Amino acid sequence: MNPYILYSDGEGNIFEDITLYTTGRSGWDALPVPEDEWITLPEGGQLYELPGRRGIGIDVETGEMRLCEKGWAVAAFIPPAHTGLYLAAYETLPGAETLPLFCYTATGWHDDTFYVPAIRIEQDIRQESEGFEEEKIQSGVKKFLSAYPHNRLVQHLAQNCCLTYHCPAARNYFMGRWECPVPSSPACNANCIGCISFQPVDETIVSTQDRLMFRPTAEEIIEYTVPHLETAPFPIVSFGQGCEGEPLLMWHTIKDAIVEIRKHTIKGSININTNGSDPEAVKALCEAGLNSIRVSTNSVRESVYLPYYKPNNYVFNDIIESLKVVNSYGGWTSINYFVFPGMTDSVEEYEALRKMIRETGLKMIQWRNFNIDPDWYLRKTGVTETGECLGIKQMMELIREEFPDLKFGYFNPGMERIRGDFERDFAGGRGASSDLNAKPLTD
Ligand code: SF4
Repeated sequence: MNPYILYSDGEGNIFEDITLYTTGRSGWDALPVPEDEWITLPEGGQLYELPGRRGIGIDVETGEMRLCEKGWAVAAFIPPAHTGLYLAAYETLPGAETLPLFCYTATGWHDDTFYVPAIRIEQDIRQESEGFEEEKIQSGVKKFLSAYPHNRLVQHLAQNCCLTYHCPAARNYFMGRWECPVPSSPACNANCIGCISFQPVDETIVSTQDRLMFRPTAEEIIEYTVPHLETAPFPIVSFGQGCEGEPLLMWHTIKDAIVEIRKHTIKGSININTNGSDPEAVKALCEAGLNSIRVSTNSVRESVYLPYYKPNNYVFNDIIESLKVVNSYGGWTSINYFVFPGMTDSVEEYEALRKMIRETGLKMIQWRNFNIDPDWYLRKTGVTETGECLGIKQMMELIREEFPDLKFGYFNPGMERIRGDFERDFAGGRGASSDLNAKPLTD
């Protein structure tokens, strides 16, 4: 059984076309999706109509692939903690605008239910939409703004991150729990095509949030992070957020903050989300007490990395070195792996990933959905064809088999999970860490 394709009337209304089964996209190709890779659209997921694009389906009678001419194509934005296995498959008509920086997963309709080809890769509930209580958030904002009246960072987290961008990390901070964001850098030493905090003026799309406009002091960082580490359940403070540039450009301030934080508390994990561009700075932060690092990347192949990140003053190998440095200090190492079906699961990428895991002693892969217009990404990085692919799910299974101690997830683990039972010690945690053994659609 395969779900029917969806289309929109261009006015936000979505319909199923029962003459066509939906397909999935991998690289530039539309493919049938294996039946056991469909799950119901998770809570918090959304549907997007894609103007100027016609969905590609499989004719229920002939089995031929053809376009759905009834309306615009439809894609799903799947919520965090889930990884999409196929992109939405469509043909882009001339003059269609570039799509904004969201993920576009395939979707279909079956038995009055929306389906997506995806997997729950993370059981931690920190970004479950139904877990955010608006009243608690509002009272938390009020309480912390009056507790830290002169702290520019707390004001930024309140006014911009929490109340404007609805950033889940900032909302969790104001609810006094889990991972607390610490943005610090207005500048970056890379020029990512899909940067979510800065887009060049000549680009047609906009960044999803504005970049921080000031350099916080170590005192401003310490003032609100120490109480968070002391009081929050599963506490983490994380440098490197979506509303800033590259935190390693602020490593002196971050080092001073970490030293001071650890004078006040040994609780929780101090993490940095980074492009990993400066292994020497990372070494200094490890010396100061950094517990974990998450290096973001669209690929572990230099040839695919460079046309996307367009680094100013660092080389691809620096990001590998940064992971090795943290590993040598016994710290936790993750990659924030932007999953793009057709690129991530290519045989070349798989081989490069195996080599990188062995070389760096990597502890965790966070299989994140790539928030970018697929056509735009492939065109901008000069990808005309993607070569042989394994399928995202199969690639995960192969990596899991070869590296049984390597963890899969979507979020930075707290100290309880790093030092305790990885499968249990996390927010909402009493169960397995991924659904690789999920029940197939047809049962
Ligand atoms: S490293 Fe981060 S902040 Fe810098 S350009 Fe890339 S996405 Fe933007």
